[in-house]
Amino acid sequence: MSEFVVPAAPVTTVPVAGGGKFPVRRVFCVGRNYADHALEMGGDPTREPPFFFSKPSDAVTLAAQLPTDPISKKFEHEAELVVAIGKGGSNIPAAQALEHVYGYSVGCDLTRRDMQGEAKKAGRPWDMSKGFDNSAPIGEIKPASAIGHPAKGTLTLSVNGTIKQSGDISQMTWPVPDVIAFLSTLVALAPGDLIYTGTPAGVGPLVKGDKVEIVCEGVSTCVFTLI
Ligand code: MN
Repeated sequence: MSEFVVPAAPVTTVPVAGGGKFPVRRVFCVGRNYADHALEMGGDPTREPPFFFSKPSDAVTLAAQLPTDPISKKFEHEAELVVAIGKGGSNIPAAQALEHVYGYSVGCDLTRRDMQGEAKKAGRPWDMSKGFDNSAPIGEIKPASAIGHPAKGTLTLSVNGTIKQSGDISQMTWPVPDVIAFLSTLVALAPGDLIYTGTPAGVGPLVKGDKVEIVCEGVSTCVFTLI
């Protein structure tokens, strides 16, 4: 008989192309990693050190249909390359960072932009504008052993067939090795961690019925509809 006094949470998993499941431990997200998005958010496009926030692991979802957010009046999409950590470590040098990557996917950092704006203004945490239920759609993970370590490739997001975000992962202010190096100075990375690496310009609102399709060239796709 279990010693747990309430039911233990199930492990969130993401399917891996070719078989197997990636068990999600933590979800880290990079803020403003593309200069054009930093500008559209009223920020500084220069190469400031990256900053991070988190979502709970059970915010990660592969559901084809997601509930329309009941809270936000400005519920926005952010298309992002996602890094899946395979080997943990602290203070990982950028030159060795890719050895810690299991694979890659693409996902959406769903954001309650109105609440985020209010939190920023009040100097309050972003958690409830970023880390809510179903806030981290993701596609299938592709192992680095199969696709390598993509440093370039288009990242596009369309809503109902119209392209809203179109960037290239080569435009990241801090590329994947630098993101891992920075983040591993702040926390000890562990197998199962996911890193959403930031979004290019063109973020915008979603409403009920919208079909969102995100494609990162050579990596993966993520598709969902708000119901
Ligand atoms: Mn983001």
